[in-house]
Amino acid sequence: MLIVPEREIGNLMTRAAAFDAVEGVFAAMASKNAYNFPVVREAIGYEDALYGFKGGFDRAGKTLGLKAGGYWPNNLEKFDLINHQSTVFLFDPDTGRVKAIVGGNLLTALRTAAASSVSIKHLAREDAKVLGMIGAGHQATFQLRAALEQRSFEKVVGWNYHPEMLPNIEKVAAEAGLPFEAAQLDRLGQEADVVISITSAFAPSLMADHVSPGTHIACMGTDTKGKQELDAALLPRATVFTDEVAQSVSIGEAQHAVAQGLIAQSDVQQIGAVINGTHPGRTSAEEITLFDGTGVGLQDLAVAASVVDLAVQQGIAIEVDF
Ligand code: NAD
Repeated sequence: MLIVPEREIGNLMTRAAAFDAVEGVFAAMASKNAYNFPVVREAIGYEDALYGFKGGFDRAGKTLGLKAGGYWPNNLEKFDLINHQSTVFLFDPDTGRVKAIVGGNLLTALRTAAASSVSIKHLAREDAKVLGMIGAGHQATFQLRAALEQRSFEKVVGWNYHPEMLPNIEKVAAEAGLPFEAAQLDRLGQEADVVISITSAFAPSLMADHVSPGTHIACMGTDTKGKQELDAALLPRATVFTDEVAQSVSIGEAQHAVAQGLIAQSDVQQIGAVINGTHPGRTSAEEITLFDGTGVGLQDLAVAASVVDLAVQQGIAIEVDF
């Protein structure tokens, strides 16, 4: 069995490798070569933690396994650790034997950023110039870095529920040589050609009348029943895509619009269909496209398998008898 510790992931994994792994597995999901198992996610009644398992099997890539972990909201303050903690376990699909254990913290951020980045590549207008960020926490900086690689953005506008956190994303914009402006949500929605929302909110911030025609929105924070970042009335105005339809309508952003009867489950399309060319994706410059990124186990397995390959190539993987 191989171990790739968390401390090695930063040196091994690149944004490009994460992007390729995630784009590939979304395509495999849409062509039914890969499927996710039902998600287990429990409020364990201790440290306010949400703990669970996300797993799946990619027949084409021969990747089988799960990510175990979750969200510990007190970690940063109490233990100086990031709030998300996870580990990926990969198994040999021919024998069921464990193949690898891989640190999942940085990989989670990279695969989540890769997902919105894949959505921008396939759904945003080619001439997108202004990127709007809603959220300025741990994931937001990864989201911003990955998104900036997809279009020739000229400016970043940002809003956060806790405005004192905005310098986190301003710094990333500055690293990329781009101006950053803090903005209220109506101005952000008016100016931005692409919006990424990545917060832990349980109530909508971005309202339907904030958003201009032609915008692409990647909604990445809502991954649990009850969470919400966008006005449900925005969804019937948009063409809605997701990683996994079953998750989108139960734990993703579409849960609210579907529950309120504003859209049907059949209105939510897999982004993999756009990647595979079986769905046209955006069809006009005025269309609002929305990607509901709920986060699937197969994303974790794909990036973990990719990092194991890199670790083996570079002689960094730790081999243990098991
Ligand atoms: P974090 O704790 O570092 O940051 C939380 C962010 O949410 C901050 O911007 C904060 O200001 C904002 N926020 C907190 N309360 C809010 C409220 N009431 N209204 C609006 N905004 C509020 O967390 P993070 O690591 O950046 O994760 C953000 C979210 O992304 C979490 O909800 C997490 O579960 C989710 N997430 C999703 C995926 C996925 O695949 N879709 C993957 C990882 C994380």
